[in-house]
Amino acid sequence: MDFSWSSEQLAFKQDIVDFATKNLNVDTAARDLNCEFPFELWKKCADFGILSMSVASQYNHSKQDTEFMTAMLAMEALGYGCRDNGLTFALNAQMWTVQLPILHVGNEQQKQKYLPAMCRGEIISAHAMTEPEAGSDAYSMQTTATPCDGGYLLNGKKCLVSLAPIADLILVYASTDLSLGNWGITAFLIEKGTQGLEQSAQQTKMGLRTVPIGELTFKNCFVSEQNILGTVGSGVGVSQSFLDWERCCILASQLGAMERQLDECLAFARKRKQFGKSIGKFQSVANRVVEMRLRLETSRLLLYKVAWLKGQGQSAMLESALLKLHLSESFMESSIDAIRIHGGRGYLTEYEIERDLRDAVGGTLYAGTSDIQRNIVAGILGL
Ligand SMILES: Cc1cc2nc3c(=O)[nH]c(=O)nc-3n(C[C@H](O)[C@H](O)[C@H](O)COP(=O)(O)OP(=O)(O)OC[C@H]3O[C@@H](n4cnc5c(N)ncnc54)[C@H](O)[C@@H]3O)c2cc1C
Repeated sequence: MDFSWSSEQLAFKQDIVDFATKNLNVDTAARDLNCEFPFELWKKCADFGILSMSVASQYNHSKQDTEFMTAMLAMEALGYGCRDNGLTFALNAQMWTVQLPILHVGNEQQKQKYLPAMCRGEIISAHAMTEPEAGSDAYSMQTTATPCDGGYLLNGKKCLVSLAPIADLILVYASTDLSLGNWGITAFLIEKGTQGLEQSAQQTKMGLRTVPIGELTFKNCFVSEQNILGTVGSGVGVSQSFLDWERCCILASQLGAMERQLDECLAFARKRKQFGKSIGKFQSVANRVVEMRLRLETSRLLLYKVAWLKGQGQSAMLESALLKLHLSESFMESSIDAIRIHGGRGYLTEYEIERDLRDAVGGTLYAGTSDIQRNIVAGILGL
């Protein structure tokens, strides 16, 4: 494995850190408090080219494709520079769970219609899989797509869908034949305003509060045959085609956030004095910083390994499950350490330390809970 970066890649990384630090840390605490999605910052990210990184150059008007390791490094840089973990989560969600499947399995008309506008930040999209009775067991979904003249009628409900309340485009999974189990699941693209589609208001949540989350209800919602993504019955394949990429890049942004968190804790441990010396001189505090560094380094190695395997065109199912499990749990642990290091200030909202903990909990739940990642690893190990 070769994890060395070229000078161009490192310069690109620094450009993104500078862009994010300068432009994206606007009113984050207030937006978190009020659960406000930053439309303007989304557009700024699009203009900078962030959303284009998961899409081939012919659909985003850039000169060349972004190679995957570079995209992952870019998402890490974004997480380091941008203190709004909700914004980085939302960008990653669109890039890897909607844009990438459209790029990989969409037909030319779908690619032309949606990808350029998504890259420009003009279309916000959601990926709708979870249902009230089908969470971890996602493929037991009960939303149906019944064939009718020229298309399908969708009926059912999706929940816990990021960006659902404001999405212009929804990638949704439904069964064209429940008796076929996984083989009946099909992916559809549905536009906002389609008759029979209801997008709920946002639901308040613990963390990642700048990304709205909500429900989608389908009541005899007509979808034309042209809006099938891939082929009838290929929905499970569509949903699994991007899992490793999604894990890599969402987690890359979390890794960046962990590095920023560590830098801030180090600076605070050096500056804050009690009993006549810097608190970092007390072994209890220093040990916490060391544990944070250890989690950062081990998470980084796992992340880069998965990205490297994907870059080589190899499968990374085991490694990406280990990565999801380790990095998301590490971010949560380190976020608790960061609060302890900052003492009472760490608990106050205005210091923007406690928010990382609330955001980090979400990472242990979405895209497969930690328990599910353990199950995947155990299964691959033959248990
Ligand atoms: C912030 C956030 C964003 C999300 N965004 C989206 C999105 O954009 N689109 C979307 O479709 N979904 C999204 N989700 C939903 C997410 O994918 C589900 O919450 C997740 O898959 C778990 O499903 P569940 O909540 O129904 O929990 P359940 O599956 O009911 O699980 C409840 C508990 O039981 C455990 N459990 C369940 N089955 C097993 C098992 N076999 N072995 C061991 N333990 C088990 C779980 O680990 C958990 O602790 C999001 C969730 C969150 C928190």
